[in-house]
Amino acid sequence: MTTLLHSYIPPSASLRLRRRSSAHLRPLRVQVGRMGNRVVRAQAATDATEAATSEGLKKGIAEFYDESSGVWESVWGDHMHHGFYEPDTTASLSDHRPAQIRMIEESLSFAGVSDDPIKKPKTIVDVGCGIGGSSRYLAKKYGAQCQGVTLSPVQAQRAQELAAAEGLADKVSFQVADALQQPFPDGEFDLVWSMESGEHMPDKRKFVSELARVAAPGATIIIVTWCHRDLSPSEDSLKPDEIALLNKICDAYYLPAWCSASDYVNIAKSLSLENIKTADWSDNVAPFWPAVIRSALTWQGFTSLLRSGWKTIKGALVMPLMIEGYKKNLIKFAIITCTKPN
Ligand code: SAH
Repeated sequence: MTTLLHSYIPPSASLRLRRRSSAHLRPLRVQVGRMGNRVVRAQAATDATEAATSEGLKKGIAEFYDESSGVWESVWGDHMHHGFYEPDTTASLSDHRPAQIRMIEESLSFAGVSDDPIKKPKTIVDVGCGIGGSSRYLAKKYGAQCQGVTLSPVQAQRAQELAAAEGLADKVSFQVADALQQPFPDGEFDLVWSMESGEHMPDKRKFVSELARVAAPGATIIIVTWCHRDLSPSEDSLKPDEIALLNKICDAYYLPAWCSASDYVNIAKSLSLENIKTADWSDNVAPFWPAVIRSALTWQGFTSLLRSGWKTIKGALVMPLMIEGYKKNLIKFAIITCTKPN
């Protein structure tokens, strides 16, 4: 049975899982609902289905990033995450890099990560590292050792090349590994960093518990991720049209079921993590997708897209739906931070 269904079920009526077919990933919907604290499952999948689903999702994610990372890097550089802007501004292409760096800095500052030479992080894990933009930035900022994991072999290799080119080969390293089964011992890292990878994780509880496992006592955990809106007390799921919109985004970006920031907070509490804080930065990232769409419409963006492949083009076609999701207050850009008890 899916680990997601075993351990944690986001309060949405339709959990969207995927099964690999020979041609593409097919959605598999599992209906769930809640009765008080009891989670009721109306339809279950078998263990074998779950393994196939999870493997299919991972394969889709790896292929998506293998195919699209080069295009993204050529147009947007080495950070594959939203920029942080002043609300209600229009971002131009030249603003994007400072805004992406600002996203990193705002996240560190929100979490209260210290710059003090004694207290600053010395070991960092970058979970879902893309081509290593955060890893290199954090390794330089703190003089720390940083290890990144990604599902995409193309990303891991490119991340390593960029690190070598910046003279950081002895500071950062990257490998293909699953965030849900990290190849690290318990208690290894002073800072556990997940910048926009949580939305890909099919089992959010397992995801956060792995982040907590590899965190050293007292370490800070930072999760910056796409969420759906919090449900009101009278709701036990999103509305059908909201689910339909998210499902279209899931198809293009290889995402499993979404959850809310409150769900993350509840998971962190249930794992006895401390100093749990969250914020909604949706207004700060609102200028991002319009800027990405404008960049895709430049000659360089357009020709790179055409050269890339179907998965990347499909991803580009869905960008307006991200804007729609934010405008409808359905999609939330959330930061969740906490610390591991000493
Ligand atoms: N954090 C990076 C990249 C974000 S893109 C940045 O800010 O630039 C999402 C990343 O999450 C990709 O690198 C993808 O391979 C990774 N990812 C998704 N699911 C994963 C999993 N189960 N294990 C490890 N990495 C994963």
